[in-house]
Amino acid sequence: MKKISKISPICMLFLVSISMSAWAQGTPFPWPDGNKMALSLSFDDARASNPLTGIPLLNKHGILATFFVLPEGVKSNLEGWKMAAKQGHEMANHSFTHPCSGNFTWSREKALENYTEDRMEKELLAANQAVYDLLDVKPAVYAYPCGQKYFGSGRHTQSLVPLIAEHFLAGRGWLDEAAADPWYVDMAQLPGIKMDDTNFETLLPMIQQSSENGHWLILAGHETGTEGPQTTRLEFLEKLAVYVNDPANKIWVAPMGTIAQYVKATREAMLDTLNQPRLIRANPDGNLILTAEKGKGIGPDIQYMPEWKAFGWFTEKDQVVWEMEVPETGSYEVWMEWSVSDEEAGKEYLLSVSTQNLQGKIEKTGSWETFRQKKLGILQMDKGYQKLSFKGANPAVKGPLLDIRKISLEPVE
Ligand SMILES: [Zn+2]
Repeated sequence: MKKISKISPICMLFLVSISMSAWAQGTPFPWPDGNKMALSLSFDDARASNPLTGIPLLNKHGILATFFVLPEGVKSNLEGWKMAAKQGHEMANHSFTHPCSGNFTWSREKALENYTEDRMEKELLAANQAVYDLLDVKPAVYAYPCGQKYFGSGRHTQSLVPLIAEHFLAGRGWLDEAAADPWYVDMAQLPGIKMDDTNFETLLPMIQQSSENGHWLILAGHETGTEGPQTTRLEFLEKLAVYVNDPANKIWVAPMGTIAQYVKATREAMLDTLNQPRLIRANPDGNLILTAEKGKGIGPDIQYMPEWKAFGWFTEKDQVVWEMEVPETGSYEVWMEWSVSDEEAGKEYLLSVSTQNLQGKIEKTGSWETFRQKKLGILQMDKGYQKLSFKGANPAVKGPLLDIRKISLEPVE
């Protein structure tokens, strides 16, 4: 803990004013070199036109893209693809056989409906190996063929996302509608925005909006050429390249794997300095750890204080709510880590899960700087989605309640 003297709620307010709350809108993601947004260009299937027209155009402008290649497509122009990989373009995984729903007649012999988890995993790893054997690079990212993120059908449908999360740094969809919010997006489900069959003027507002929001725009296409279906127009790429290379536009353009790695590292480095309300799942030991950074502050003045990794209360109308998945129905010991000055200690708290409540007096910790842990009692909780709320028991009482850092729920043996 930093040695900042915490004298009063006014002082805490000051800390808040310089803090980062990514949840609240407006915290720009710290893209490198002062850039306002990130942009990735990606092309699927290892289409024959890419090494002939698209890649030379990108090279002319010094732009590196991500190519989600199919091994068969690579083999049809091995030298061209080897060259692209050597030039620094990212070679990524798009499966081996490109399985999509059998609702596409052309995919009926490799229908996702007839896949099982082990078959899918084998195919993904075989595709990784094939790309490595052909191009001497190990794919780090994946694009879902047809953007479809499932296999099986009906009651036997399973999500493909966990497999992608396990084996890849990131996964990209297709025909999505919004740029990725780097603070929030699930890296295994990055949105892919269509850049085929369109022109620069049509996509420009989306680029500008991504810049305003500090987002990561991931464009996805197939062929590169002047006409035809599923084709990213060379004229579009030319205008886009000029625009993104204009330093005034402050756009970081890089392959998906490069940006995904940066986003991941930035998030990890800032994890406990950001308040990002999230569903809390139990640790392997069954404990639920409700840290302040994962809780949602509700009320006129409740504030997350990154310096203390804690919520500060300013009025009795404030509360913090955590969402969680309780692993098993049963009794849980409730522990709290908090601080409070001796002058403000002694007010009543109310902790609730469903119809169960714990109520008691907030004990002294010695000072706002001194955090203490204590068992508050035992709660009965049902398995599944639950909300835990913590607030002052008496709305009429004035003044700060406490600073709360963590509530832990531990199953009773
Ligand atoms: Zn494809």
